[in-house]
Amino acid sequence: MSSTATPRVGHLIGGETSAADVRAVHDPGKLDEVVAEVAVGTADDVDRAVRTAHAAFAGWSATPVAERVQKVFQAADVLAASAEELAPQLVREHGGVLWEAQTDFGLGTGILQHTASLAEEFFTPVTFDDEQSTISVEKVPRGVAAAIVPWNMPVVLTMMKLAPALTTGNTLVLKPSPFAPAALTLALQKMAEVFPPGVINVVHGEGDVGAALCSHPLVRKVGFTGGTETAQKVIGATADTIKNVTLELGGNDPAIVLDDADIDATLDRMLKGVYTRTGQICFAVKRIYLPRSIYQRFADAMCQRVDEYAVGHGLDPESSFGPLNNEAQYKKVLDLLDKTRNSSANLVELGRKVDPSTWDNGYYVLPHVVRDTEHTAPISCQEQFGPVVPLIAYDDEQQVVDWANDSDYGLGSSVWTSNPDRGFAMARRIHAGSTFINTHSFESLDPRMPFGGIKQSGIGREFGAAGMTAYVEEHSIHHLK
Ligand code: NAD
Repeated sequence: MSSTATPRVGHLIGGETSAADVRAVHDPGKLDEVVAEVAVGTADDVDRAVRTAHAAFAGWSATPVAERVQKVFQAADVLAASAEELAPQLVREHGGVLWEAQTDFGLGTGILQHTASLAEEFFTPVTFDDEQSTISVEKVPRGVAAAIVPWNMPVVLTMMKLAPALTTGNTLVLKPSPFAPAALTLALQKMAEVFPPGVINVVHGEGDVGAALCSHPLVRKVGFTGGTETAQKVIGATADTIKNVTLELGGNDPAIVLDDADIDATLDRMLKGVYTRTGQICFAVKRIYLPRSIYQRFADAMCQRVDEYAVGHGLDPESSFGPLNNEAQYKKVLDLLDKTRNSSANLVELGRKVDPSTWDNGYYVLPHVVRDTEHTAPISCQEQFGPVVPLIAYDDEQQVVDWANDSDYGLGSSVWTSNPDRGFAMARRIHAGSTFINTHSFESLDPRMPFGGIKQSGIGREFGAAGMTAYVEEHSIHHLK
């Protein structure tokens, strides 16, 4: 594992990079290593970026759709080409393993291409013409869009906002997470060269910078992915200027295994949705409900498999998964583990340390399975965002439906069965933005499926036409004959 030169990453405003003040970003798997120096933004930087994006809006929104689409396709090629160089940098910032960082770039590229492929049809005006009236319902971009993203999958989460924003003619100001800002910005610097200056802008910083973006009067749209508590502040900060918001928030996804499920086939796919990114995925499997008849067999088979995982630095090919991303997340997971250890549940620590000598120099946690736990336990009710999952026994289908829906969240969910008809019937009883049948991981995502949550998991949808709809206004034009 060799370290490369530490990048110094500035704001990107109107095609120029700048960094009056910088802060160090540390590797969550090697806390004594600085992996980037990144600009610290202020409300003035936000104002400059938004005004620049606003100035670029007139030209970009007037650019023919076909030309915008062609540039978004070109930007997808640039993003794909940057993955080899930048995925290792992303690993050193967010703590994932290399294939997870590469997947982030790959999914981001796919979102750009899919969105661009839909644009011509999306912009076809809807017209009505009769003896009395000619009506044309047209879609127009909103103006400056702000995107605020977290650290866990920063590339694809950014592209889920950038792709619909730019394709539909808006300009963008992005605020990355301070915990994974550099690789993303270096990729965006290259992508920005495809577009006129000012179409893509980036301002770095913490919550104050995010808040300044949300309240800026020239920002007409906020696309936010992050925690539910932060989203409450976003709603507050956008209230004065009545902005349109899309919120993609936390989840506590249930996986419901039915009594006819094949245990091995279920585990083959389900485990990818539990421990990938060390459990730090919004739609990870966060609680598993098992019929009492197969509970022990399933739990034994699961523990046997999870015990094969090795935890270490993301650039070490031996690592199945890496450290948690930051201190607050690490403390939260350790606290949940402590509470569970001191309860009547059976907390099973599994897996091995790739390098025990460097274990304490990162936010490392071994994978855990919580056996014999209750639906009401903290580990079942809270979003853990870590490598630990509870297994809860149920007695009948109505009970498991009630438990699955007994949550303030409603992002993803899954049903596991050898009978697809039973799967669809059960899926329709679950309150969530998405329900997957016999899958619940990155493999489950398809850009044709609108992605988002209900209840406190969010407002609105991303991906495809639903995602683009969030970045346009409908302008109705009526000629009364
Ligand atoms: P976070 O809410 O702490 O931060 C998200 C972003 O908001 C960061 O860029 C942060 O700097 C910024 N921010 C902080 N305070 C702000 C404020 N007052 N105004 C505006 N912006 C502000 O979340 P996180 O810890 O980075 O990410 C983890 C959370 O994100 C988890 O809850 C996870 O479930 C959720 N998440 C959701 C999805 C989804 O698509 N639904 C995807 C990934 C992560």
